[in-house]
Amino acid sequence: MPKLYCLKRGSKLPEELLAIAAEDGIKTAALAGVGGVEELTLGYYNRESKKYEEKRFDGFMEVTSLLGNVTTKDEAPFVHIHGNFGRRDYGVVGGHVVSAKVFPLLEVTVTPTENTAVRKFDEELGLSTIFKF
Ligand code: ZN
Repeated sequence: MPKLYCLKRGSKLPEELLAIAAEDGIKTAALAGVGGVEELTLGYYNRESKKYEEKRFDGFMEVTSLLGNVTTKDEAPFVHIHGNFGRRDYGVVGGHVVSAKVFPLLEVTVTPTENTAVRKFDEELGLSTIFKF
């Protein structure tokens, strides 16, 4: 069954979602969220270097769409989230969420799945990919 959580001001992503998954025994789930953040670091996957280029954004932004999943890696929860973040001029930045600080709150719906998806590091891609589901 899906469950709705409300992350409070100052909560950090992805740490808070990892803690929720660990506490509630969630091995695989879909994540969806709306709310706000005040510090944000996004990543852009560079195909040549096989590494994420990171960029930090400061100031309050509406979380207009946060999507992702919880999977299992090395027997522990692993969170993968992407998001779109609206600025005061109504422009949007988006990408792979490396980290964010919640302000004033973030409403996240966690929908556990029937299967358990497991990740491991893929040397060729330089990413932790789902190899078993
Ligand atoms: Zn990503």
